[in-house]
Amino acid sequence: MDTDEPLLHLRDLRVTLRTPRGPADALRGVSFTMRRGDTVGLIGESGSGKSITGLALIGLLPEDAQAAGSMRFDGRELVGLADPEWCRLRGNRIAMIFQEPMTALNPLHRVGRQIGESLRLHRGLDARAARAEALRLLERVRMPQAARRLDAWPHQLSGGQRQRVLIALALACKPDLLIADEPTTALDATLQREVLQLIAALVREDGMALLLISHDLALMSENVQRTMVMYGGTVVESGPTASVFRRLAHPYTRGLFAARPRIGLPRGTRLPTIPGRVPELVDLPAGCPFADRCDRVTDACRAAPPPPVPVAGDDDHVARCIHLEAGS
Ligand code: ADP
Ligand code: MG
Repeated sequence: MDTDEPLLHLRDLRVTLRTPRGPADALRGVSFTMRRGDTVGLIGESGSGKSITGLALIGLLPEDAQAAGSMRFDGRELVGLADPEWCRLRGNRIAMIFQEPMTALNPLHRVGRQIGESLRLHRGLDARAARAEALRLLERVRMPQAARRLDAWPHQLSGGQRQRVLIALALACKPDLLIADEPTTALDATLQREVLQLIAALVREDGMALLLISHDLALMSENVQRTMVMYGGTVVESGPTASVFRRLAHPYTRGLFAARPRIGLPRGTRLPTIPGRVPELVDLPAGCPFADRCDRVTDACRAAPPPPVPVAGDDDHVARCIHLEAGS
C-alpha cells in the first residue's frame, strides 16, 4: 500500500438535504486532508455544517441526503459506499462520540453489556473476554469505581460518567479516526475540560486521528494541531491552530473570536457578537456566504465564492476571502 496516502482526504464534498422549502446545500465543497495521528478542530456557529460533516464521515447522513464529491478513507472511496460496507467501517475504523450521551446509549442495557456487545461484534471476543476488556476500557477512561459501573444502567450515571462510557465505546474497536461532535456540551465547565483532555490523551496514546467539533475555542487551542473554521457549509479558513488563532485572517473568524465568552468578565457584561445571523441554507448567496454580515464586503464578494487565499504567504494557512490584506 502507498504509505504516503493520507488517512482521510475530502475533495469538494457536497451534501444536499431535502427541506420543506426545496433542496438545500448543507455542504458546498468541503476539502481537507488528515494523516494518521493528526488532530483537527472544526469550529463555527450553530448551523454552519459541522455535524453534517461528521455524519457524512460516518455514513449517518439523513436518509434523503445526497452526497457528491469525494471522501477517501485509507485509500477507499466513501461517497456512494453501500450500507453493509458502512456497517463494517463504522465503530470499527471510524468512530464518533456524540453530543448527547443519554440518547446515544441504550437505556435498557447495562453499561458493561453495551461495551461488550461492540467488542463481540467487531473484535470477535467471547463473553468473558468482552467483559474483561470492557472493564479495562472503563478504567482507561477513568471511570470512578469502574468494576461496579459495569453493571450500572445508563440512568444511574452522571452526565460526565455517561460521556466516559461513550468514549469507552468509541475506543473499543481501536478506530483510526475518532470524530467527537461537541462531546462536552452537556457537562459543566470543569468537567468539559477534563473530558476533552482525556479524549486528547487517549488519542495521543493510540495514535488515532481526531476530528474535534467544538464551540470552545480555548479548549481547541490546547488540543488540536490544525483548526478549520466553517461557515455556510464551507471551510472559510484553515491552518495550524496557533496561526489561525493568532492571525484571525477571515472576517468571520475574527467575529467568532470577538463573540466568545471570556472567563472573568463581570456578570452581565455584554459580549460583542457578530451582527446578523447564519443564513438559511436555501437562501445562501451565490458568492461568499458571509457577505451579508461582513464589514469588508464589496460587489466582488457577491459575484462568486472566494477562492482559498494563502494567509501571510503561508500555503498551509488559507482563508476564503478576497479582502485579506485590508484587515490582516
Ligand atoms: P452545526 O453542527 O454546525 O451546528 P449542522 O451540520 O447540524 O450544523 O447543520 C447544518 C445545516 O443543515 C443547518 O442549517 C441545519 O438546519 C441543516 N440540517 C441539519 N440536519 C438536517 C436534517 N436532518 N434535515 C434538514 N436540514 C438539516
Ligand atoms: Mg452540530
